[in-house]
Amino acid sequence: MENIYKDPLPECSFTSSGKIVPVQQEKDTLITVENVELNDSAIDFPCKPEKPSDTDCCGSGCIPCVFDIYDQEIKIWERECSRLRNKAVPGEDDLYKEKSMLSELEYRKFTISQVWPETEDTYRYRFKLPFDRDLGLQIGQHIIVRGRSLNETITRQYTPITDITTSGYFDLLIKIYRDGKMSKIIRHWKVGDEVDIRGPFGSLDYTPGKYRCILMLAVGTGIAPMSQVIQGILNNEEDETFIHLLYGCHTYKDILMKTELDGWAGYWNFSVTYALSREQEKNYQYGDKVCERRIDENLIQQEISGKTMDKFMILTCGTRSFDEDIIKCCDNLGFNQKQIFKF
Ligand SMILES: Cc1cc2nc3c(=O)[nH]c(=O)nc-3n(C[C@H](O)[C@H](O)[C@H](O)COP(=O)(O)OP(=O)(O)OC[C@H]3O[C@@H](n4cnc5c(N)ncnc54)[C@H](O)[C@@H]3O)c2cc1C
Repeated sequence: MENIYKDPLPECSFTSSGKIVPVQQEKDTLITVENVELNDSAIDFPCKPEKPSDTDCCGSGCIPCVFDIYDQEIKIWERECSRLRNKAVPGEDDLYKEKSMLSELEYRKFTISQVWPETEDTYRYRFKLPFDRDLGLQIGQHIIVRGRSLNETITRQYTPITDITTSGYFDLLIKIYRDGKMSKIIRHWKVGDEVDIRGPFGSLDYTPGKYRCILMLAVGTGIAPMSQVIQGILNNEEDETFIHLLYGCHTYKDILMKTELDGWAGYWNFSVTYALSREQEKNYQYGDKVCERRIDENLIQQEISGKTMDKFMILTCGTRSFDEDIIKCCDNLGFNQKQIFKF
């Protein structure tokens, strides 16, 4: 297994106001508010929020989009700079007095307490929370992580895989891409590092009992949002929704969260079929339902045959092309667009 934790993280440092900045910029940056230059060295002004680049927008029409969030951040930053200049006392409604662990508008720091490999290229990162606090997500919501390298700031979305009621910590499951911009930063994350996170985001409006069955179609790390929905349903004794997961991976070894999936398979209302597209060894655990093919229209048809289609909700999460294919398949099979949710 490749050891990705070889090099230290040298590029960044943190200001006393909690912002992450490249070491050089921390001393030199002058901040402007309403075109007035602030250079009062006695005041520790927060860093000006960085405008997202076009590549930071995933193009999926998120509400709010990274650019809306940037506009809101600028307003908060201006207000905070004005407050510091006027030496005003923070008001009751100031953001840092919020009870929630997360803020949609500003990045907050979360400390990594554990890192461990899940497969050759996918790692779990555990973040500390106060022992009696959960992150404050609704089912299916994600967060935005900000990373900074020498010459750019990158933001990407990730979905905590821990049940939303878990207190004291939360876990991210992240695939490290060899050439991925954020992956190049995350591959250096280590225990004790602080990571900038904001949220929650995501518009899945899950109502227990609304649908008889949820068919989940996921590939790779697409299991992350599914895992949150699965736990939300299985941990709610009053929710009798059936869940069937069709999970696509290259090989059996690439299946993520297998231990959890085995545990959930013990519940009466959860089942999983693994669709393996490149399996050679065929050395499966007894009881696993495996088919050696990609997820396609025929396979979906097979999984839903004999069931009443209007009682289904379809959740899909994978690559952009996977999601597009799935939406087409479901359309061909006669599902209504309102029944389909793409993470
Ligand atoms: C709502 C949501 C939730 C998510 N949750 C998770 C999660 O829980 N876990 C997780 O691992 N991921 C998750 N993702 C995906 C995640 O946000 C990132 O997209 C992913 O980590 C890759 O980011 P990166 O910057 O490392 O790679 P990127 O730089 O974005 O590149 C990704 C891949 O594409 C390739 N690539 C990049 N640019 C090009 C190009 N121009 N041409 C061809 N190939 C290219 C790279 O080599 C790499 O293989 C989620 C995404 C969304 C939208």
